[in-house]
Amino acid sequence: MNSKNISNDQRYFESYDQVQVHELMLRDRPRVSAYHDAIMNNKHLFENKVVLDVGSGTGILSMFAAKAGAKLVYAVDACPTICNLAAQIIKCNDLQDRVQIINKRVEEIDKFDEKIDIIISEWMGFYLFHESMLESVIYARDHFLRSSVQNDDNTSEQNESIVIFPSHAYLYCAPFMDQNIRIELNTMWNDYFNLNLSPIRQHIKNSDLSECVIETIEPSQLVHDAQLIQSIDLRTVRIDELHSMRSFCEFTIDNTCIISGFCFWFDCYFSTNDNSSILRSTRLTTNPSSPKTHWKQTLVFLPEDIYPLKNDIVPVNIKLKQSATNRRQYDLTISIKKIKENLNNNDEKILVENLNNKRQRSRSSTMSTDKHITSESQTMDETSDSSSSESDNDSSASEEHPIPCSCDRERCKLIKIIIEKYDEENTIE
Ligand code: SAH
Repeated sequence: MNSKNISNDQRYFESYDQVQVHELMLRDRPRVSAYHDAIMNNKHLFENKVVLDVGSGTGILSMFAAKAGAKLVYAVDACPTICNLAAQIIKCNDLQDRVQIINKRVEEIDKFDEKIDIIISEWMGFYLFHESMLESVIYARDHFLRSSVQNDDNTSEQNESIVIFPSHAYLYCAPFMDQNIRIELNTMWNDYFNLNLSPIRQHIKNSDLSECVIETIEPSQLVHDAQLIQSIDLRTVRIDELHSMRSFCEFTIDNTCIISGFCFWFDCYFSTNDNSSILRSTRLTTNPSSPKTHWKQTLVFLPEDIYPLKNDIVPVNIKLKQSATNRRQYDLTISIKKIKENLNNNDEKILVENLNNKRQRSRSSTMSTDKHITSESQTMDETSDSSSSESDNDSSASEEHPIPCSCDRERCKLIKIIIEKYDEENTIE
């Protein structure tokens, strides 16, 4: 690890040594319930077993494991204040004989007195990979788990006998339409009590939205179903696979819409390897339609909104690359290839008419102006790459048209109407 990464790691553990962070996590009921249910509904797995809790914090998961019948739980955490607190809590619950706290980084431990049967850990960060704590879980799996996966030759039976909770993690992505974040940023400083305060923007963190925003989003803001972009099997994933991850997805647009950016969230499953479907095991989800968690959703804004029409295909490349200067963070790059325009001229004409009619009816609609918080610590880069050579249906479509464009092409007329309608609806009075 280079010196920058060492000091980043120091800061990382200092932040986890604050009780408030743990309070926030303990207040996150969907999070704690998922672990509770996964452990308590599988007592047969924990009965008389030795469990390792990687990053035990206040000891909550270790205590669940002990209550589920574990013979011994090693509760490992690098943070001294939290380990002290965990010791008090564990004593308070009379579990000190079965939960042993070890105040170390898991990577600093040579060996445990007993072989580990089960690993439990809550390692997930924003957009799943933020914090890179998954690496510590993989390290623990490979060094301490009784039947760990050391190489590719392992049989599927060996993999099946590995118990790691959670066992699987999936990252999803869906395009969203912003109804307030960018609008608020754009409008509030330019017209603040009838004064223009725009120079302040350059001093406000993430006012250009070039970094991810951690915020909950209404399901209605998603303009397309999500696509799965990464899937992790905790029993087999390798650390080197997490350094750089790429995925490609195409969103076929059902209804003409505005895309302001892409929303990311994850699900985790606690599969027990008993041949039943993973999807039937306990799930911890952070999707926008489910009860809110402290992970919220991760929003990546495009430099400018885009306006795909019905039946268009939006091809998106997503890259997650561990930052060279801070391995706890990822650079998230989204590049949109040229939209594949699939709407025929006649459909476009009908859409223009429909939208014109709707526009008459919706003049008085207003927007909500909820507050938003930006993520503290991640950098993100977006490239809108319009130089790809996707073939278009006709030659006029392949020309670059500005947005909005006042030419006579139906597509351009339509986009212009959408923008005008959107501006009208979003004028804050
Ligand atoms: N398990 C607790 C805390 C989860 S937060 C709960 O569910 O509430 C993650 C915890 O992991 C933090 O307390 C952090 O200090 C710890 N941690 C992260 N990486 C670690 C490592 N490599 N070794 C030991 N502890 C680690």
